[in-house]
Amino acid sequence: GSTIGILGSGQLGRMLAVAAAQLGYRTHIYAPETGPANDVSPLMTRARYDDAGALAAFARAVDVVTYEFENVAFAPIAALSPIVPVRPPALSLATAQDRVNEKGFVEGLGGRTAPWRAVTSLAELEEAIAAVGWPAILKTSRFGYDGHGQARITAPDQATAAWESIGAAPAILEGFVTFDHEFSIVLARGVDGTIVSYPPPLNVHRDGILATSTIPAPAEVAACWTEAATLAGRVADALGHVGVLTLEFFVTADGPVFNEMAPRVHNSGHWTIEGAVTSQFENHIRAICGLPLGSTDVTGSGVEMENLIGEDAARWPQILAEPEAHLHLYGKHEVRAGRKMGHVTRVRR
Ligand code: ATP
Ligand code: MG
Ligand code: MG
Repeated sequence: GSTIGILGSGQLGRMLAVAAAQLGYRTHIYAPETGPANDVSPLMTRARYDDAGALAAFARAVDVVTYEFENVAFAPIAALSPIVPVRPPALSLATAQDRVNEKGFVEGLGGRTAPWRAVTSLAELEEAIAAVGWPAILKTSRFGYDGHGQARITAPDQATAAWESIGAAPAILEGFVTFDHEFSIVLARGVDGTIVSYPPPLNVHRDGILATSTIPAPAEVAACWTEAATLAGRVADALGHVGVLTLEFFVTADGPVFNEMAPRVHNSGHWTIEGAVTSQFENHIRAICGLPLGSTDVTGSGVEMENLIGEDAARWPQILAEPEAHLHLYGKHEVRAGRKMGHVTRVRR
């Protein structure tokens, strides 16, 4: 059997490791701290993502490297590519870990985005507000997740407060999109360029955090599906992507508007574990190991995935009492507000 190296020790790594084990692979987690992935993976290197020596030793110990977490130092990861296949490739990581890069890349392939400007100083933010208008959202261009590193701007005099609140990092100002719904395209691309794509879920966010993903999505989302999936396929091809790739979209009167992408399995694809013939995790493992990809067909007439955030996880006894609910707990020891503790999936026959 071969060994799959995974950068990151969170719940996405845990679910990847379970899928890998089912296909007969061992996993080796590389992360600065232990986490949910370590409970199910036999091997670990505990080191920083920019520790070139530890990374090189890790690369020699595994047969392929993937990542469940894209907020890693790019240069040392790119340096692994000559030693071991890194899948998805370095270009996917570099593009998707920076909001300025990903917006420009997707626009270059014909995708629609919110009006945006790259911002590296308060003076540039003031110019950007004048150009983009308001309301707008200022986001750090790197390292944001679950709505962290963002500030809403509803009037130009909020520029200084917004700039200070995100910590004056390289940033992007985005015009606020008036949207009806949010959805995502989750696809897997194989080593040979074959693409399979899941039907798009309706994604509902609360406080900037995904709350639920529902299949099938309403007709307004279905009307955007072909255009969004075609764009996502173009993005995957242009990156030479191998593995799962996720693009988030808004449904607007003008059609789908691209929000952001993730070069990895995604929370809005968790419904596929029980709700699709092949889960996003299995398809990611198949793709990076050069295996044929599996069917993305839905197993029932509908699926709902509900995230268990913070104290929601205390509802586990009631969820277990539901005959058809699939409970997933990530084994995180500390409950914190806004922290993803688990999820539950309900498949309608
Ligand atoms: P994730 O956990 O999905 O990676 P994130 O921190 O990268 O989250 P975004 O996806 O950029 O954050 O934004 C979180 C949510 O905030 C979006 O799903 C959407 O509901 C809202 N949002 C973000 N950008 C805009 C925008 N330009 N216009 C309107 N709403 C927005
Ligand atoms: Mg994001
Ligand atoms: Mg998002």
